[in-house]
Amino acid sequence: MTNTQSLFPTTYESSRERFRGYLPTIQNMWSKAALHQYAMSYDNSLTIDWIYSPATEKNEKILVFTTGEHGVECYVGAAMMHRFIEDYMPKLDPRTTGILFVHAVNPWGMKNHRRGNKDNIDLNRTFMLDPHFDPAFNPAYDKIDPFLNPKSTLTNTFFNNLVYLFGLGLHVAKMGMRDFRYALLLGQYRNQKGLYYGGKEMPEETRTLMDLYKMALQNYDQVLHLDMHTGYGPRYQMSLVNSALDKGTSDYFEKRFNYPLVVAATADEFYAIRGDMIDYIYGLQQRDHPTKKIYATSFEFGTLGDTLYGLFQSPRVMIHENRAYWHGAVNDKVHAEAKRGFEELFNPSAADWKEKAVKDAKQAFEGILKAEGFI
Ligand SMILES: [Zn+2]
Repeated sequence: MTNTQSLFPTTYESSRERFRGYLPTIQNMWSKAALHQYAMSYDNSLTIDWIYSPATEKNEKILVFTTGEHGVECYVGAAMMHRFIEDYMPKLDPRTTGILFVHAVNPWGMKNHRRGNKDNIDLNRTFMLDPHFDPAFNPAYDKIDPFLNPKSTLTNTFFNNLVYLFGLGLHVAKMGMRDFRYALLLGQYRNQKGLYYGGKEMPEETRTLMDLYKMALQNYDQVLHLDMHTGYGPRYQMSLVNSALDKGTSDYFEKRFNYPLVVAATADEFYAIRGDMIDYIYGLQQRDHPTKKIYATSFEFGTLGDTLYGLFQSPRVMIHENRAYWHGAVNDKVHAEAKRGFEELFNPSAADWKEKAVKDAKQAFEGILKAEGFI
């Protein structure tokens, strides 16, 4: 068994290499398993990789495991996938179960340690059943846009933190924390250099994944989808974030999975999003395959925590990193500080964090696979 530290890859390339190396192991159980790639149109050295196999006898259900929709989060996502493949995949029944493992939905973001893709698009704002990338959507974002996306070089970190705190205080006082977070996180389709930008049209990454989800729902009666993310929720307790489109309550799922923290992606429990990938799968199921069974969820490995400190820190870190990316920083030190803060938000370095994250993931794998009848 791989030790916890070495589960976490350090580069996009090494992670992808390891992923491709799973194929023979998977073929021991699913002889028809094959490795597929989608090369990005602008750079064929960047690929979305997946390993798919139908069930060996009868396609009843499929396990879908996705990582790196937010590129930089794939370092943790790939670690969790490795643990899954070593410890849980062998318990599945290949005769009735198909598998689909996806490495790096957003390969550019993983390689470049950013959340969005090459065009600064947050892919989790692009999964729409009826795609319209409406530039007028979420008008409240305009009120906070200058605060979120300053159009100048990142200067002194201490000074910028003060400006940030002052700006945050002002906006929260004017709008309330709830409305501020709503406007911030919902998604926007007009500021190309802004946070939570959803683009002008459907990105190629999104199209690639949509085809895979359609295939899964078409060929199987039951779909179980686990999607890996980092950044939100308590630091030492991974949150299972369910779609608001799932009718089950969070309490119900906590008992069902024997897992202590389940939330729904609504403004009350988590936050609302347009173009969410998990919502898309539910939407597809409800529209085209209403008789089929689905459970899809995001594993959200919290990093800065959900105390007031964490809630205040995560936008700060994202604002500084995004500003330095577009407008540069006054010197290398300030640039490195911005990058380091961002990395800690989505790919923490602490050994104890990694240990607990893996432990939580295992508990969730166990509970979900059992409850959904996969083991
Ligand atoms: Zn994410």
